[in-house]
Amino acid sequence: MHSFKQSLIYTLIKSIKIIVKGLVQGVGFRPFVYRIAHKYNLKGNVENRNDGVLINIEGEPELINLFLLSLKNEAPVASSIESIAVQDNVIRNFQIFEIVKSNNMSDTITEISPDIAVCDDCLTDLKSQNHRINYPFINCTNCGPRFTIIQDIPYDRDKTTMKDFVMCDTCNEEYTDVNDRRFHAQPVACNNCGPVYELLYNGNTIRNFKELIQTTASIIDKGHVIAMKGLGGFHIACNALDRNAVIRLRKYKNREHKPLAVMARNIDVLNRVVVVSESEKKSLLSWRKPIVLLKLINGNIIPNEISNGLNTLGVMLPYLPFHYLLFEELKTDMIVLTSGNISDEPIIIENEIAKKSLSNISDALVINNRDIYNRTDDSVVFMGNNKERIIRRSRGYVPNPVNLPLNLEGIFAAGAELKNCFCIGKENQAILSQHIGDLKNLETYDFYKETVNQFFKLFRMNHSLSVGDMHPDYLSTQFIKKMNMPSVFVQHHHAHIASCMAEHNLDEQVIGISFDGTGYGDDGNIWGGEFFIADYQNYKRISHFEYIPIPGGDSVSKEPWRMAVSYLYKVYGKEFLNFQLPFLKNSPIEKINLIIQAIDKKLNCPLTSSVGRLFDAVSAISNICVINSFEAEAPMRLEAAIAENCSDKYPYLISNVVCFDEVVKGIVSDLKNSTKASVISAKFHNTIISVILDIAVYAKENNNINKVVLSGGVFQNKYLLENSERILIKNKFEVFTHCKVPSNDGGLSLGQLAIAAKRRSMNKQINN
Ligand SMILES: [Zn+2]
Ligand SMILES: [Zn+2]
Repeated sequence: MHSFKQSLIYTLIKSIKIIVKGLVQGVGFRPFVYRIAHKYNLKGNVENRNDGVLINIEGEPELINLFLLSLKNEAPVASSIESIAVQDNVIRNFQIFEIVKSNNMSDTITEISPDIAVCDDCLTDLKSQNHRINYPFINCTNCGPRFTIIQDIPYDRDKTTMKDFVMCDTCNEEYTDVNDRRFHAQPVACNNCGPVYELLYNGNTIRNFKELIQTTASIIDKGHVIAMKGLGGFHIACNALDRNAVIRLRKYKNREHKPLAVMARNIDVLNRVVVVSESEKKSLLSWRKPIVLLKLINGNIIPNEISNGLNTLGVMLPYLPFHYLLFEELKTDMIVLTSGNISDEPIIIENEIAKKSLSNISDALVINNRDIYNRTDDSVVFMGNNKERIIRRSRGYVPNPVNLPLNLEGIFAAGAELKNCFCIGKENQAILSQHIGDLKNLETYDFYKETVNQFFKLFRMNHSLSVGDMHPDYLSTQFIKKMNMPSVFVQHHHAHIASCMAEHNLDEQVIGISFDGTGYGDDGNIWGGEFFIADYQNYKRISHFEYIPIPGGDSVSKEPWRMAVSYLYKVYGKEFLNFQLPFLKNSPIEKINLIIQAIDKKLNCPLTSSVGRLFDAVSAISNICVINSFEAEAPMRLEAAIAENCSDKYPYLISNVVCFDEVVKGIVSDLKNSTKASVISAKFHNTIISVILDIAVYAKENNNINKVVLSGGVFQNKYLLENSERILIKNKFEVFTHCKVPSNDGGLSLGQLAIAAKRRSMNKQINN
């Protein structure tokens, strides 16, 4: 028999279990849940699990409904909910609501969030909160610095570079009020208690912020160059719409030719200079605020000196409160914002070093007294088939982990030598470092070693196994050899394929296609146009681009025309010297003869199957780019030249290798007929796409595998990536491409980590 009173109790209290999946860890999700549970007077707990966030909650059903609505609609900007599963639960009579430590995974990872662009609520507070009017360091639980200021865990203020700033009473009230948006926001600060900026200009130091921001804006509007401290390092800035200012900046930065990134006032400004698709807009406006590569509109007002003749522009939108405040004062709608460093060295983070070295290459310097602990560059992405593809993974992305169904605990993956990122394994999470750069540069190598130490400490690394590239000369490989730990060495392109497999949780045999610039091969040659049947443990090389000598070895990275000579000499012998090819007009015949002799005598002419070198050759033969003034200029210009609506291609021959002799002949014949370089470029790209499809079909028939994985730096070529993916899908393949990590060597360490983990789990012999 049940009484009226009992049934009333049953209807009053309800207990449910909620599992939230998606990007919900390391983004302030648990404090948010805590806050809304308190708001509705609900009891229970919240916990991070391997597969998401688990919430147990008890209370009045109506309040639980309100809680669920808030959970859906008010989640932190940096989170992204994929699903919310709700189950009824037995009543456990929770007395409080609490955040519980999880037993089955390390909270160390999930506590460390990437840096988050200033949120809309804070931008409103910037104009309305008395103690934060125009405060350039405003932030809240939903936004602000994270990774860049964390020195140790647990993530508390005294473990960040904010520890020296004592909160004022007002800030402290907000920080301790569970219903406040700044509850436990570690970097919370205001005009009365927080960090401040300083402008060093003409021997004066300006500290009054209003005067500082107005002067900074006028320096830029006047056409001068300024160095400014940002979130992850210093930037160098100038008016992007002032040609002379851009030339001045390039001169200061030692005449570099690399395209420069810009920051635009807002998205409307961009519509006048670049094409912005819906997916591109989404990336630009996301809380990560990366640099997005966008296509320039013909006849735009951007000075040619910014993109240097390429048809794309790297653009970002304001992400610091300082940027918004600066644009309020600026007349120009767009500024150049490039890394504050000296040539190829890492981006500068210390005030004192900036004062010494950046003041020589700028007219003024903006610093502040909030220290940067973890150096990050702006991340760079582009849209391929409407999906975000990462070229440089750093601010806003690091240290978000990639989850794998493998035990990765204790494995350190050293990465490549160029575009280095390393990776550490924590349980089933792969945590990639920020973009480090080219290790051959001494300062960058120091940055690498320092960051490895920081990651080991920050993530409580229990190092037990190292993995690196097979290349004996890579500094990253030598680095792990010096560690004297058990280690494995994996083939470069195997790691590329594994990296893309890891992103997609593919633990099986796939058709792996790695198109890259370089990579030490099993036979000692330089690989880079590779077709594998691969899984994590092993790979079989089923085909590759035909070997060709690289005359002068490394020097070809500056002189792509050497590759053109190599291909032409292979196809025609010396006869090509009579063709009067335009690109040879400026090359002295003695130099060409020396190259030919070197090829004949096999002097400093390593053999390669690299796709990158073929792109170099074609770019030079068609006289699009003969000498590189920045890294990978030749293939970038070749891609930029592609004629629209051209579906023609050149003939090629596939035997056990892919032979491009007929392609070279086709290009020479087109040049003789004065075919436009744009058409040659389109035909060449279409040829490569056709090769991909042909070999994929062949591999499928012979191995009964339908999954194709595309990796390697060449797939940063948007035309190649998009059309290869489309044509493979059209031919009923399942296609896997990179979205979470770069397809270039910046993503390599993820693949190394996955291979090492799998081999360890299979008890494969691991060398000491
Ligand atoms: Zn905020
Ligand atoms: Zn304060």
